[in-house]
Amino acid sequence: MSHYIVLVKQVPDVTKITDNAFDPETGNLMRGTLPTVINELDAQALAFADRMRSLDPNPGQMIALTMGPPMAEEVLRYCLARVADQAILLTDRILGGADTWATANPLAFAIRKIARDRMQNPEDEDYFIIAGMQSVDGDTAQVPAQIAEELEMPIVAYATDVARENNRFHFTRIISGGSQVVACKKLPAVVTVAKYEHTLFTTFAKMRRANHAELITWNADDIQASAVGVKGSKTRVIRVFPPPKTSRKCREIKDVQEFAQVIIDSYKNNGENAITKTSNQPEYILPAKRNSLLDRRFEGTIKENEAYKYLVEMLQKHDIQDPAKVTQPIKEDILAKAGKKVTVHALEAMLQGLHAVEPMYQGDVWVVAEHEQKQINPATYELIGKARDLADSLETQVGVVLVGKNVEPMAQSLIQSGADNVYLFEHDLLEEFDPKAYRKAVAEVIKTYQPQIVLYAATPQGRVLAPMVSYRLNCGLTADCTSLQIHDNSRKGEIAFLLQTRPALGGNVMASICTKDSRIQMATARPGVMKRLDMDEKRTGKIIPVSLQLSESDICLDIIRQELGGGEVNFDADVIVSGGRGISGREDFQILTRNLSEAIRKRLDADVEIGASRAAVEQGYIERIHQVGQTGTAVKPRLYLAMAISGAIQHMIGVANSETILAINSDPHAPIFRNADYYIVGNIENIIPQLVQTLGEN
Ligand SMILES: Cc1cc2nc3c(=O)[nH]c(=O)nc-3n(C[C@H](O)[C@H](O)[C@H](O)COP(=O)(O)OP(=O)(O)OC[C@H]3O[C@@H](n4cnc5c(N)ncnc54)[C@H](O)[C@@H]3O)c2cc1C
Repeated sequence: MSHYIVLVKQVPDVTKITDNAFDPETGNLMRGTLPTVINELDAQALAFADRMRSLDPNPGQMIALTMGPPMAEEVLRYCLARVADQAILLTDRILGGADTWATANPLAFAIRKIARDRMQNPEDEDYFIIAGMQSVDGDTAQVPAQIAEELEMPIVAYATDVARENNRFHFTRIISGGSQVVACKKLPAVVTVAKYEHTLFTTFAKMRRANHAELITWNADDIQASAVGVKGSKTRVIRVFPPPKTSRKCREIKDVQEFAQVIIDSYKNNGENAITKTSNQPEYILPAKRNSLLDRRFEGTIKENEAYKYLVEMLQKHDIQDPAKVTQPIKEDILAKAGKKVTVHALEAMLQGLHAVEPMYQGDVWVVAEHEQKQINPATYELIGKARDLADSLETQVGVVLVGKNVEPMAQSLIQSGADNVYLFEHDLLEEFDPKAYRKAVAEVIKTYQPQIVLYAATPQGRVLAPMVSYRLNCGLTADCTSLQIHDNSRKGEIAFLLQTRPALGGNVMASICTKDSRIQMATARPGVMKRLDMDEKRTGKIIPVSLQLSESDICLDIIRQELGGGEVNFDADVIVSGGRGISGREDFQILTRNLSEAIRKRLDADVEIGASRAAVEQGYIERIHQVGQTGTAVKPRLYLAMAISGAIQHMIGVANSETILAINSDPHAPIFRNADYYIVGNIENIIPQLVQTLGEN
């Protein structure tokens, strides 16, 4: 008999975030002002679990579990009103303020308790833990992987469908470049759901019952977790702030003729939006290498930088170069002129901070390489570019961990793109990515060499591997970073730590985070954001073979089959014309993309390639090799034309480096318009023929 434990989370309704949701004084988001809802992907996970149960010849109970404040019971009642048999609320003040580490840990302990208390006969009973892949508020994508690590279970991440064959569940899951069908080698197991759009309806009677049902409530003592709340967390949020305004023009064009002209002009004005690195100077300088102890330009927040700027100006006015020479009258003068800006306590801490020079962390900056079909994933090269920047600032080296079967031929390209050392582990069992086996290999290498920073790509692979490795090695992890910089918090004596900035709340806010209580700082970084370096064939470095034990028992998934894009595509073309699911069928897709490509090719004398969204590929409109985006190819053409593509984050990640983005969509509120330079609202069936004709005219 199999039971189904569904993890659900109550989240703020991000559609309701307005500028008023931010504290005007601090710029912090006031979460209490927002209404709450069940996290959309957790609702989908509940439907997924229900589907599994309907396929199960011997189904057990469906148990919904949430951790949160007492009001989180609302999401449990949502589950009870649909398909859950029981609901457990894990609530305790001490659990509050937790990061993913200190969320996964108590949830795993609660799951152990469920297995202990609620399953009568553990010999004959198994269970699945099902969760949404992601939540809109924090980065809960890490939580299920970390639960799997704590409970030593297989994990199937990014599932989109399930079937039952040969007495086992077969899960279809998203992977880079395609999809895969897998089964778990053993149970219990964790499954994260990336997409399962089947609405579960309720009835009035069921809602009434759910509203009166007694919930099981546990507190921290009931579960005896080993890491809870702020104290057990391994990361700390330093600042939450509104996201920067988009650099895209977001200009609506009303007329097809004008739109055609914009295509022509944008192509000619090539270079305007190009993102280039302006300087080769390290972005950060270690205190010991600065001209003066008073140079504190690299504090982690604007507020700290300003406070130090004021202090240093005052010290210079008093002709002080050595903070030890600050006398009481000078302190009084600084305080008097600062008004409310600086307190006595803050001044003492800042003066003390001026003596801090020793970096908090030691070791190299590492990247975990990702590869498919004997090719390094482009995101790995981008991370090496970033790691190079960080390592140069920290005056240390760049290492890359490369594990897999027969992967040595790829090692040289990692060195040519900026690595000093490649730590190589090859094994026949690592032919395909298996979360547990790869976790074991990567964690062992990291443990042996102890770098200070480890970066992973925020791809379906990196986003499973990184949380498992970080949990195993007791390290903090920040997911999906869009900025990584070295900073100081001199006041606390914290020098040269990694400030990790990432979007949160569905991209409505940004959060800057640092690692705490960890020997190694870890982050996954969003593909397409960091800049890769030009390959330098003359660059030299070391390949360091690593030896460790791996056996069949380290593999947790059976790969039943996989579908990967074959064929050829020229995504280096100057113009990419992409189509989405909004096009009504394969034939229309082929005709519309071909006609527009031809017209542009002729008019601009440019190379044009056809791209597609993942949804269009899944509809069978075009072969997988044409997919653009996070799990397809990241492109950077002069012009990117998106036809009937909604602008999901996973698509936009792959086109962010395009010089000009143009969109055509019938929905005036299509999200893609917020990230396009020019757009036109209308049906492509009407617009494309007119556009083709106009481009054909002289
Ligand atoms: C882990 C993960 C990885 C992913 N990786 C990728 C990836 O690499 N690439 C990717 O693209 N997606 C990826 N996705 C999927 C992504 O989340 C979206 O589901 C997908 O991009 C949607 O594709 P779409 O915009 O074509 O379809 P939809 O979201 O269905 O949008 C169709 C659009 O067409 C418009 N439309 C409809 N009819 C017309 C018409 N007649 N004329 C004009 N406009 C019309 C609609 O208004 C709508 O905006 C990934 C998802 C996950 C979970």
